[in-house]
Amino acid sequence: MHSITRKLFLSQAALLAGCGTRAVEAKSSSGDDVSLAYIARIYSMKMELSGKKVVMQNKWNKLEVEISSRYAWINGVQLWLHCPAYQSGKNVMIREVDFKKGIDPVLRSYYYVPKHPPKLVVLDPGHGGKDTGAVSAEKVYEKQVVLDIAYRVKKHLEENKIAVRLTRTGDTFPSLTQRTDYAYQVGADLFVSIHADGAGDPSAHGVESFITTVSGFDSTNHYGAGGDKSPQKNNSHDNANAVLGFSMQSNLLKQTQRRDRGLRRARFAVLKNAPCPAVLVESGFLTNPEEGRLLNTADYREAVARGISNGIRGYFTLVNRAR
Ligand SMILES: [Zn+2]
Repeated sequence: MHSITRKLFLSQAALLAGCGTRAVEAKSSSGDDVSLAYIARIYSMKMELSGKKVVMQNKWNKLEVEISSRYAWINGVQLWLHCPAYQSGKNVMIREVDFKKGIDPVLRSYYYVPKHPPKLVVLDPGHGGKDTGAVSAEKVYEKQVVLDIAYRVKKHLEENKIAVRLTRTGDTFPSLTQRTDYAYQVGADLFVSIHADGAGDPSAHGVESFITTVSGFDSTNHYGAGGDKSPQKNNSHDNANAVLGFSMQSNLLKQTQRRDRGLRRARFAVLKNAPCPAVLVESGFLTNPEEGRLLNTADYREAVARGISNGIRGYFTLVNRAR
């Protein structure tokens, strides 16, 4: 991504169109919102308050939600809610959509993944050609870094007998539409766009994954004035996106050991137009001195590639297990 979009994103993190009014009106677990107590009951989790966090836990999983914020964590990995959790009497509430299309697909993926086993993965190395993407202090271009990572992911997946195609194989610039059209033409079962980040603030660092925003909600990152709420064409795989996105972010963190910026929502063109479950990975900040140096090393790019291929293989495992 580019610094201008990052700045807009930061200034808009607190702007929560689509969240305000109904949240204030809602009083119970019916309708648009659900209480954390209700969610804890579904999972047979113990619930306790720890500072600003509600912590829910059973033998297998831990779910944490921060009150008055959009942060939640599943087993320590951050995922962003569409709308902040809020106190209503004795209850803490979240949007039903954040439960049904975010948390529950991760915790009970077997209900949500497609019934047919995935066969073909399309990897999308971002940018290319005239579009360099982000640039590090050492003049390393995002377009080069992500192509190298994509080839490494391809190798790992093919070693595991998973078929892979790339939206670009060299220094070319397919349009965003051409990238998702290609995925459609070849019958992709998964679409994974690979990027490295750029920000005006060099201290920004860490790894993050994006899935498309659920219809009817503003994207967390919609590039400027005005909302981009649906109805509009949108990827119709909300639940599988969440399963894939969470597997991706968890495995990326495990392999890179970088700061967790979370599984986020953005209605990026390649995500919303993908014909299959889709995720966009940001593999570190080229504009951060430390991560800029890391992204220039084969070792780090290999760690990112392992994270991505393990994220994909994790999704495959969940689909096969659910059948
Ligand atoms: Zn990019």
